[in-house]
Amino acid sequence: MQIEKKDIRALSKDQLREFFVSNGDKAFRGNQVYEWLWNKGAHNFEDMTNVAKSTRQMLEENFVINHIRVDQMQKSEDGTVKNAVRLHDGLVVESVLIPTETRTTACVSSQVGCSLDCNFCATARLKRMRNLNPDEIYDQVIAIDNESRLYHNRPLSNIVFMGMGEPLMNYNNVMKAIDKIISPEGLGMSPKRITVSTSGVPKMIKKLADDEVKFRLAVSLHSAIDEIRSQIMPFSKSFPLADLREALEYWYSHTKSRVTYEYVVWKGINDNKASVDALVKFCKYVPCKVNLIEYNPIDDGEFQQASEESINEYIKALERNDIVVKVRRSRGKDIDAACGQLANKEA
Ligand code: SAH
Repeated sequence: MQIEKKDIRALSKDQLREFFVSNGDKAFRGNQVYEWLWNKGAHNFEDMTNVAKSTRQMLEENFVINHIRVDQMQKSEDGTVKNAVRLHDGLVVESVLIPTETRTTACVSSQVGCSLDCNFCATARLKRMRNLNPDEIYDQVIAIDNESRLYHNRPLSNIVFMGMGEPLMNYNNVMKAIDKIISPEGLGMSPKRITVSTSGVPKMIKKLADDEVKFRLAVSLHSAIDEIRSQIMPFSKSFPLADLREALEYWYSHTKSRVTYEYVVWKGINDNKASVDALVKFCKYVPCKVNLIEYNPIDDGEFQQASEESINEYIKALERNDIVVKVRRSRGKDIDAACGQLANKEA
Protein backbone atom coordinates (compact mmCIF):
# COMPACT_ATOMS: atom_id res chain seq x y z
CA MET A 1 0.00 0.00 0.00
CA GLN A 2 1.27 3.40 -0.88
CA ILE A 3 1.66 5.81 2.00
CA GLU A 4 -0.07 9.10 1.33
CA LYS A 5 2.55 11.76 0.86
CA LYS A 6 2.29 14.93 2.89
CA ASP A 7 1.85 18.36 1.33
CA ILE A 8 5.26 19.91 1.92
CA ARG A 9 3.77 23.38 2.07
CA ALA A 10 1.83 22.48 5.20
CA LEU A 11 5.21 22.63 7.00
CA SER A 12 6.49 25.82 8.57
CA LYS A 13 10.05 26.92 7.89
CA ASP A 14 11.15 25.56 11.27
CA GLN A 15 9.51 22.23 10.58
CA LEU A 16 11.29 22.01 7.24
CA ARG A 17 14.62 22.79 8.89
CA GLU A 18 13.96 20.09 11.49
CA PHE A 19 13.07 17.62 8.76
CA PHE A 20 16.44 18.09 7.10
CA VAL A 21 18.34 17.86 10.36
CA SER A 22 16.55 14.64 11.26
CA ASN A 23 17.55 13.29 7.84
CA GLY A 24 21.21 14.03 8.44
CA ASP A 25 21.32 17.21 6.36
CA LYS A 26 21.87 20.82 7.35
CA ALA A 27 19.05 23.01 8.71
CA PHE A 28 20.00 25.54 6.06
CA ARG A 29 18.67 23.16 3.40
CA GLY A 30 15.24 23.85 4.88
CA ASN A 31 15.64 27.56 4.15
CA GLN A 32 16.58 26.83 0.56
CA VAL A 33 13.61 24.58 -0.05
CA TYR A 34 11.30 27.00 1.74
CA GLU A 35 12.45 29.75 -0.57
CA TRP A 36 11.75 27.60 -3.61
CA LEU A 37 8.29 26.78 -2.36
CA TRP A 38 7.17 30.22 -1.28
CA ASN A 39 9.33 32.80 -2.97
CA LYS A 40 9.99 31.22 -6.30
CA GLY A 41 6.71 29.34 -6.53
CA ALA A 42 8.29 26.01 -7.55
CA HIS A 43 5.75 23.43 -8.73
CA ASN A 44 8.21 20.52 -8.82
CA PHE A 45 11.12 19.34 -6.73
CA GLU A 46 13.01 19.03 -10.03
CA ASP A 47 13.03 22.84 -10.33
CA MET A 48 15.07 23.26 -7.14
CA THR A 49 18.33 23.45 -8.98
CA ASN A 50 20.58 24.44 -6.07
CA VAL A 51 19.51 21.34 -4.13
CA ALA A 52 21.40 18.08 -4.75
CA LYS A 53 19.66 15.57 -6.99
CA SER A 54 19.60 12.92 -4.28
CA THR A 55 17.93 15.37 -1.90
CA ARG A 56 15.32 16.24 -4.51
CA GLN A 57 14.59 12.55 -4.95
CA MET A 58 14.27 12.09 -1.20
CA LEU A 59 11.77 14.98 -1.10
CA GLU A 60 9.86 13.46 -3.99
CA GLU A 61 9.52 10.20 -2.06
CA ASN A 62 8.20 11.92 1.05
CA PHE A 63 6.13 14.86 -0.13
CA VAL A 64 3.90 16.35 -2.78
CA ILE A 65 3.54 19.99 -3.78
CA ASN A 66 -0.23 20.47 -3.95
CA HIS A 67 -0.34 23.37 -6.33
CA ILE A 68 -3.50 24.85 -7.70
CA ARG A 69 -3.98 24.79 -11.45
CA VAL A 70 -5.63 27.58 -13.39
CA ASP A 71 -7.95 25.47 -15.53
CA GLN A 72 -9.63 28.20 -17.43
CA MET A 73 -9.01 31.89 -17.85
CA GLN A 74 -11.77 34.14 -19.12
CA LYS A 75 -11.08 37.72 -20.18
CA SER A 76 -13.69 40.44 -20.01
CA GLU A 77 -13.99 43.32 -22.47
CA ASP A 78 -12.99 45.66 -19.64
CA GLY A 79 -9.72 43.80 -18.91
CA THR A 80 -11.02 41.83 -15.93
CA VAL A 81 -9.75 38.25 -15.90
CA LYS A 82 -11.47 35.36 -14.13
CA ASN A 83 -9.53 32.25 -13.22
CA ALA A 84 -11.24 28.94 -12.61
CA VAL A 85 -8.84 27.38 -10.17
CA ARG A 86 -8.71 23.61 -9.83
CA LEU A 87 -7.60 22.34 -6.42
CA HIS A 88 -5.68 19.12 -5.82
CA ASP A 89 -8.87 17.24 -4.96
CA GLY A 90 -10.65 18.35 -8.12
CA LEU A 91 -12.85 21.04 -6.57
CA VAL A 92 -12.92 24.45 -8.23
CA VAL A 93 -12.92 28.03 -6.92
CA GLU A 94 -12.76 31.28 -8.82
CA SER A 95 -10.53 34.32 -8.48
CA VAL A 96 -10.55 37.58 -10.38
CA LEU A 97 -7.96 40.10 -11.58
CA ILE A 98 -9.38 43.61 -11.71
CA PRO A 99 -7.21 46.21 -13.48
CA THR A 100 -7.69 49.97 -13.27
CA GLU A 101 -5.46 52.80 -14.55
CA THR A 102 -3.31 52.74 -11.46
CA ARG A 103 -3.76 49.39 -9.76
CA THR A 104 -4.33 45.71 -10.19
CA THR A 105 -6.54 44.10 -7.60
CA ALA A 106 -6.84 40.37 -6.95
CA CYS A 107 -10.21 39.20 -5.67
CA VAL A 108 -9.64 35.82 -4.04
CA SER A 109 -11.78 33.03 -2.61
CA SER A 110 -11.51 31.68 0.92
CA GLN A 111 -13.88 28.70 0.79
CA VAL A 112 -15.20 26.28 -1.82
CA GLY A 113 -18.81 27.46 -1.89
CA CYS A 114 -19.94 29.50 1.11
CA SER A 115 -21.16 28.84 4.65
CA LEU A 116 -23.71 31.66 4.45
CA ASP A 117 -26.99 32.04 2.68
CA CYS A 118 -27.35 35.57 1.28
CA ASN A 119 -30.34 35.38 -1.05
CA PHE A 120 -28.86 37.70 -3.67
CA CYS A 121 -25.49 35.96 -4.08
CA ALA A 122 -24.76 33.21 -6.60
CA THR A 123 -21.99 31.71 -4.45
CA ALA A 124 -24.47 31.09 -1.63
CA ARG A 125 -26.26 28.61 -3.85
CA LEU A 126 -23.25 26.33 -3.81
CA LYS A 127 -23.14 24.64 -0.48
CA ARG A 128 -19.94 25.02 1.43
CA MET A 129 -17.73 22.09 0.46
CA ARG A 130 -14.62 22.93 2.44
CA ASN A 131 -12.28 25.65 3.61
CA LEU A 132 -9.29 26.53 1.47
CA ASN A 133 -5.84 25.84 2.89
CA PRO A 134 -3.44 28.74 3.38
CA ASP A 135 -1.40 27.68 0.34
CA GLU A 136 -4.51 27.45 -1.86
CA ILE A 137 -5.35 31.03 -0.96
CA TYR A 138 -1.77 32.18 -1.43
CA ASP A 139 -1.51 30.43 -4.82
CA GLN A 140 -4.54 32.30 -6.17
CA VAL A 141 -2.72 35.53 -5.33
CA ILE A 142 0.48 34.37 -7.02
CA ALA A 143 -1.42 33.31 -10.14
CA ILE A 144 -2.97 36.77 -10.41
CA ASP A 145 0.35 38.48 -9.68
CA ASN A 146 1.84 36.56 -12.61
CA GLU A 147 -1.06 37.51 -14.87
CA SER A 148 -0.77 41.15 -13.83
CA ARG A 149 2.93 41.17 -14.74
CA LEU A 150 2.19 39.45 -18.03
CA TYR A 151 -0.79 41.51 -19.19
CA HIS A 152 -0.19 44.85 -17.46
CA ASN A 153 3.57 44.91 -16.91
CA ARG A 154 3.16 45.58 -13.23
CA PRO A 155 2.84 43.52 -10.07
CA LEU A 156 -0.38 43.06 -8.21
CA SER A 157 -1.07 46.10 -6.02
CA ASN A 158 -4.12 45.16 -3.90
CA ILE A 159 -5.96 42.11 -2.63
CA VAL A 160 -9.58 41.82 -1.61
CA PHE A 161 -11.05 38.75 0.07
CA MET A 162 -14.30 39.17 -1.80
CA GLY A 163 -14.38 36.00 -3.86
CA MET A 164 -16.20 32.84 -2.86
CA GLY A 165 -16.72 32.13 0.80
CA GLU A 166 -16.83 33.90 4.12
CA PRO A 167 -13.22 34.61 5.13
CA LEU A 168 -14.01 34.90 8.85
CA MET A 169 -15.49 31.38 8.82
CA ASN A 170 -12.07 30.15 7.69
CA TYR A 171 -10.22 32.40 10.07
CA ASN A 172 -6.98 30.56 10.77
CA ASN A 173 -6.21 29.67 7.17
CA VAL A 174 -6.99 33.17 5.91
CA MET A 175 -4.69 34.63 8.59
CA LYS A 176 -1.90 32.23 7.66
CA ALA A 177 -2.27 33.10 3.97
CA ILE A 178 -2.16 36.83 4.74
CA ASP A 179 0.93 36.34 6.93
CA LYS A 180 2.61 34.73 3.96
CA ILE A 181 1.45 37.46 1.55
CA ILE A 182 2.87 40.24 3.73
CA SER A 183 6.02 38.43 4.79
CA PRO A 184 9.22 39.37 2.94
CA GLU A 185 9.60 35.66 2.24
CA GLY A 186 6.29 35.71 0.40
CA LEU A 187 5.10 38.72 -1.58
CA GLY A 188 6.18 41.39 0.90
CA MET A 189 2.95 43.28 0.32
CA SER A 190 1.80 45.99 2.72
CA PRO A 191 -1.22 44.87 4.80
CA LYS A 192 -2.79 48.27 4.07
CA ARG A 193 -3.35 47.00 0.54
CA ILE A 194 -5.32 43.99 1.70
CA THR A 195 -9.05 44.09 2.52
CA VAL A 196 -10.94 41.29 4.18
CA SER A 197 -14.66 41.46 3.52
CA THR A 198 -17.13 39.83 5.88
CA SER A 199 -20.85 39.59 5.95
CA GLY A 200 -20.44 40.51 9.59
CA VAL A 201 -19.62 37.83 12.14
CA PRO A 202 -19.32 39.90 15.35
CA LYS A 203 -17.25 37.45 17.38
CA MET A 204 -14.67 37.09 14.62
CA ILE A 205 -14.47 40.85 14.02
CA LYS A 206 -13.50 41.19 17.67
CA LYS A 207 -10.93 38.45 17.24
CA LEU A 208 -9.38 40.39 14.35
CA ALA A 209 -9.03 43.36 16.69
CA ASP A 210 -7.53 41.19 19.44
CA ASP A 211 -5.07 39.76 16.94
CA GLU A 212 -4.05 43.32 16.02
CA VAL A 213 -4.33 42.75 12.31
CA LYS A 214 -3.09 45.55 10.09
CA PHE A 215 -5.25 44.96 7.03
CA ARG A 216 -8.52 46.70 6.16
CA LEU A 217 -11.99 45.51 7.07
CA ALA A 218 -15.08 45.68 4.87
CA VAL A 219 -18.55 44.64 5.99
CA SER A 220 -21.34 43.65 3.61
CA LEU A 221 -24.11 45.59 5.31
CA HIS A 222 -26.87 46.01 2.70
CA SER A 223 -29.33 47.10 5.36
CA ALA A 224 -29.08 48.78 8.75
CA ILE A 225 -32.55 47.54 9.72
CA ASP A 226 -32.64 44.09 11.35
CA GLU A 227 -35.92 42.94 9.79
CA ILE A 228 -34.73 43.71 6.27
CA ARG A 229 -31.21 42.43 6.76
CA SER A 230 -32.32 39.10 8.16
CA GLN A 231 -34.74 38.69 5.28
CA ILE A 232 -32.05 39.05 2.61
CA MET A 233 -29.17 37.59 4.65
CA PRO A 234 -30.96 34.94 6.74
CA PHE A 235 -27.87 33.93 8.78
CA SER A 236 -27.87 37.45 10.24
CA LYS A 237 -30.84 36.53 12.42
CA SER A 238 -28.19 35.10 14.74
CA PHE A 239 -26.11 38.28 14.49
CA PRO A 240 -28.33 41.30 15.14
CA LEU A 241 -27.07 44.73 14.11
CA ALA A 242 -26.59 45.72 17.75
CA ASP A 243 -23.95 42.97 18.07
CA LEU A 244 -22.36 43.97 14.79
CA ARG A 245 -22.23 47.57 15.96
CA GLU A 246 -20.60 46.58 19.23
CA ALA A 247 -18.01 44.45 17.41
CA LEU A 248 -17.21 47.29 15.01
CA GLU A 249 -16.78 49.74 17.87
CA TYR A 250 -14.40 47.26 19.45
CA TRP A 251 -12.56 46.88 16.12
CA TYR A 252 -12.19 50.64 15.70
CA SER A 253 -11.11 51.33 19.28
CA HIS A 254 -8.33 48.75 18.90
CA THR A 255 -7.18 49.33 15.32
CA LYS A 256 -8.16 52.93 14.53
CA SER A 257 -8.87 51.64 11.06
CA ARG A 258 -11.92 52.94 9.22
CA VAL A 259 -14.50 50.34 8.15
CA THR A 260 -15.90 50.09 4.63
CA TYR A 261 -19.57 49.18 4.28
CA GLU A 262 -20.66 47.45 1.10
CA TYR A 263 -24.22 48.21 0.22
CA VAL A 264 -26.50 47.35 -2.69
CA VAL A 265 -29.74 49.26 -3.13
CA TRP A 266 -32.58 47.04 -4.40
CA LYS A 267 -35.98 47.99 -5.70
CA GLY A 268 -38.71 47.43 -3.11
CA ILE A 269 -36.27 46.21 -0.46
CA ASN A 270 -34.12 49.03 0.84
CA ASP A 271 -34.93 51.91 -1.53
CA ASN A 272 -36.93 53.79 1.08
CA LYS A 273 -36.35 56.67 3.44
CA ALA A 274 -36.33 54.53 6.57
CA SER A 275 -33.44 52.48 5.12
CA VAL A 276 -31.48 55.60 4.14
CA ASP A 277 -31.95 57.09 7.61
CA ALA A 278 -30.96 53.83 9.29
CA LEU A 279 -27.75 53.63 7.24
CA VAL A 280 -26.81 57.23 8.03
CA LYS A 281 -27.38 56.49 11.72
CA PHE A 282 -25.35 53.27 11.59
CA CYS A 283 -22.49 55.09 9.84
CA LYS A 284 -22.11 57.39 12.82
CA TYR A 285 -21.11 54.61 15.20
CA VAL A 286 -17.57 54.19 13.86
CA PRO A 287 -15.53 56.08 11.23
CA CYS A 288 -16.37 54.50 7.92
CA LYS A 289 -16.97 54.89 4.24
CA VAL A 290 -19.75 53.43 2.12
CA ASN A 291 -19.33 51.66 -1.21
CA LEU A 292 -22.61 51.53 -3.07
CA ILE A 293 -22.23 48.45 -5.27
CA GLU A 294 -24.12 47.95 -8.48
CA TYR A 295 -26.35 44.87 -8.32
CA ASN A 296 -25.33 42.03 -10.60
CA PRO A 297 -28.41 40.02 -11.46
CA ILE A 298 -28.05 36.34 -10.75
CA ASP A 299 -31.54 35.02 -10.99
CA ASP A 300 -35.09 35.28 -12.16
CA GLY A 301 -35.57 38.84 -11.02
CA GLU A 302 -36.39 38.49 -7.32
CA PHE A 303 -33.80 41.21 -6.77
CA GLN A 304 -33.54 44.25 -8.97
CA GLN A 305 -31.21 47.20 -8.89
CA ALA A 306 -33.00 50.28 -7.53
CA SER A 307 -33.54 53.38 -9.65
CA GLU A 308 -30.85 55.99 -10.02
CA GLU A 309 -33.05 58.37 -8.05
CA SER A 310 -33.15 56.08 -5.02
CA ILE A 311 -29.40 55.63 -5.16
CA ASN A 312 -29.01 59.40 -5.32
CA GLU A 313 -31.11 59.70 -2.17
CA TYR A 314 -28.53 57.58 -0.39
CA ILE A 315 -25.64 59.60 -1.80
CA LYS A 316 -27.20 62.92 -0.84
CA ALA A 317 -28.06 61.81 2.69
CA LEU A 318 -24.62 60.33 3.32
CA GLU A 319 -22.80 63.36 1.93
CA ARG A 320 -24.98 65.71 3.95
CA ASN A 321 -23.75 63.86 6.99
CA ASP A 322 -20.08 64.00 5.91
CA ILE A 323 -19.89 60.28 5.27
CA VAL A 324 -17.64 59.30 2.38
CA VAL A 325 -19.59 57.44 -0.26
CA LYS A 326 -18.44 55.90 -3.55
CA VAL A 327 -20.45 54.25 -6.25
CA ARG A 328 -18.71 51.08 -7.43
CA ARG A 329 -19.42 50.13 -10.99
CA SER A 330 -19.29 46.41 -11.72
CA ARG A 331 -16.35 44.92 -13.55
CA GLY A 332 -16.24 41.73 -15.56
CA LYS A 333 -19.99 41.27 -15.75
CA ASP A 334 -19.82 39.73 -19.22
CA ILE A 335 -17.80 36.81 -17.84
CA ASP A 336 -19.75 36.43 -14.57
CA ALA A 337 -16.79 37.76 -12.62
CA ALA A 338 -18.57 40.60 -10.80
CA CYS A 339 -19.53 40.65 -7.10
CA GLY A 340 -21.86 37.82 -6.21
CA GLN A 341 -21.58 36.09 -9.58
CA LEU A 342 -18.88 33.54 -8.75
CA ALA A 343 -20.56 30.17 -9.04
CA ASN A 344 -18.33 27.82 -11.03
CA LYS A 345 -20.67 27.95 -14.02
CA GLU A 346 -18.06 26.58 -16.38
CA ALA A 347 -16.62 23.92 -14.10
N1 SAH B 1 -18.63 36.61 2.43
C1 SAH B 1 -17.90 37.85 2.34
C2 SAH B 1 -17.01 37.89 1.13
C3 SAH B 1 -17.73 37.94 -0.20
S1 SAH B 1 -17.60 39.55 -0.81
C4 SAH B 1 -18.86 39.01 2.40
O1 SAH B 1 -20.06 38.78 2.35
O2 SAH B 1 -18.43 40.14 2.54
C5 SAH B 1 -18.73 39.64 -2.07
C6 SAH B 1 -19.47 40.97 -2.01
O3 SAH B 1 -20.40 41.03 -3.10
C7 SAH B 1 -20.27 41.13 -0.75
O4 SAH B 1 -20.28 42.47 -0.36
C8 SAH B 1 -21.65 40.70 -1.20
O5 SAH B 1 -22.64 41.19 -0.37
C9 SAH B 1 -21.68 41.29 -2.59
N2 SAH B 1 -22.64 40.62 -3.47
C10 SAH B 1 -23.10 39.37 -3.39
N3 SAH B 1 -23.95 39.12 -4.40
C11 SAH B 1 -24.01 40.24 -5.13
C12 SAH B 1 -24.70 40.58 -6.33
N4 SAH B 1 -25.47 39.71 -6.96
N5 SAH B 1 -24.50 41.83 -6.83
C13 SAH B 1 -23.69 42.70 -6.21
N6 SAH B 1 -23.01 42.43 -5.09
C14 SAH B 1 -23.17 41.21 -4.55
